[in-house]
Amino acid sequence: MRLLARLLHSHYYLKRSSGVCLSRKAVQGLDPYLHLLMPRTNFLNALYTSLSSEILQTAMRTSYSALQTYTQCPQKYKFQEIDRIPAKKSKEAVFGTYVHSALNFMFKQTPLFPTVEETCGHFRINFPASPNDVFETEAIRKAYFDEGVRILKSFYKKNPPWNFSVLGLETRFEVILEDEKNSATHILAGKIDRIDKLSDGTYEIIDYKTAKRLPSQEAVDSDLQLSLYALGVQKKWPHMSSENLKVSLYFLKHQEKLSSLRTPDSGQRVLRNALETISEISTRTAGNKQFEPMPSALCDYCPYKPLCPAWKHLYRKRATNPTDSAPLPIDDITKEYLALKKEDQKNGKRMDELQAKIKEYMEREGVTRVFGDEGYISRSVQTRHSYRFDKIREILEPIGKWKDILDADEKKLRSLMKELPEETRQKLILYGIETREFIALKVSLKKIKSPEEVSPAQ
Ligand code: SF4
Repeated sequence: MRLLARLLHSHYYLKRSSGVCLSRKAVQGLDPYLHLLMPRTNFLNALYTSLSSEILQTAMRTSYSALQTYTQCPQKYKFQEIDRIPAKKSKEAVFGTYVHSALNFMFKQTPLFPTVEETCGHFRINFPASPNDVFETEAIRKAYFDEGVRILKSFYKKNPPWNFSVLGLETRFEVILEDEKNSATHILAGKIDRIDKLSDGTYEIIDYKTAKRLPSQEAVDSDLQLSLYALGVQKKWPHMSSENLKVSLYFLKHQEKLSSLRTPDSGQRVLRNALETISEISTRTAGNKQFEPMPSALCDYCPYKPLCPAWKHLYRKRATNPTDSAPLPIDDITKEYLALKKEDQKNGKRMDELQAKIKEYMEREGVTRVFGDEGYISRSVQTRHSYRFDKIREILEPIGKWKDILDADEKKLRSLMKELPEETRQKLILYGIETREFIALKVSLKKIKSPEEVSPAQ
């Protein structure tokens, strides 16, 4: 394990399966000749089979965006990072890549900076000249192309490249994370769009965004990606301390830059969050646990939607031609269940209305029971207590009885857990909390659009 941890820094010779990585040296160290004799894939497979599952589960090379994907939806993370299922990129993602590439070109001085025409020319040469499977029609392709040119022209006008002292473009970095709980070493890697040296001698990290929505300043101040970038840069160049380093998100569609500063504390918080997420992923992988889908509005942009357990039944249903085959039993069961549920909801609402009317009648007429052909309804007075624990404590504590009523309370424990030191928290999780999973059914009576009605993943 130590050997692996030591050598994770360089020359990755990877098979990114289960989020695990090994260095070339680690591979060679384990078997110096095997890799010369076997094809690369067979060699790696043989090697992985020979490694202990402990090693495979503890080391992880990952990126901020992969961890973000996990937080957004564990099932999507599994498709993308563990199963490595190739996915069609969205229009926005592909568009962003071309714009980023042109901006990268714009700041390359060889020895003169490119003109605005040359920058747009770079974009034009790389951008697809005709519709393809991403930009499906000429109208869509042209709309994205024109938007790219518009962005580049306004960016160039507002940010002539000769006005900046650019230290790095698309700078790669890695942050080593040591998990003290299990001595595992992980690597968090990333790429920073631009690093500038400012005229006052300080530095600025800039990440370009092609998103439409401008986040709040508060969101930028707590943005984990920027905190991680700051950490990565400080690791690479320790003289760029928190005091002289600014982090910025540049929103290209609006030509707006939102900046913020990072404290050493925020860096530690990022690392802790990242380690917690990594540890959760490792536990799920090691325990062969489910990576649950988390359906949300983002599903319409997820390329794995037709494969996703939360959606594939809908796709399968649409694909079945009802005239070809009898409906599946599950269709009848679902239909009846939803109809009953709907009835239940309707009844519940009506029951509330009727109850209110009955209570009102009883009050007005001074009766405690009303009779019908099928039976009768009685009114009863029930008592509910609310306890004033401050007063109760004052009374019980002097006679030594206060402790007797301090029963363990799950809700309080859950909130206390957030404040406890990591070690105590882990102990509680290991020894004090028994986790049981159970299946529950939740019903939504909302109509879901068919896959054909939803525009293809954007
Ligand atoms: S479709 Fe939605 S729930 Fe399914 S994997 Fe994608 S994001 Fe997750």
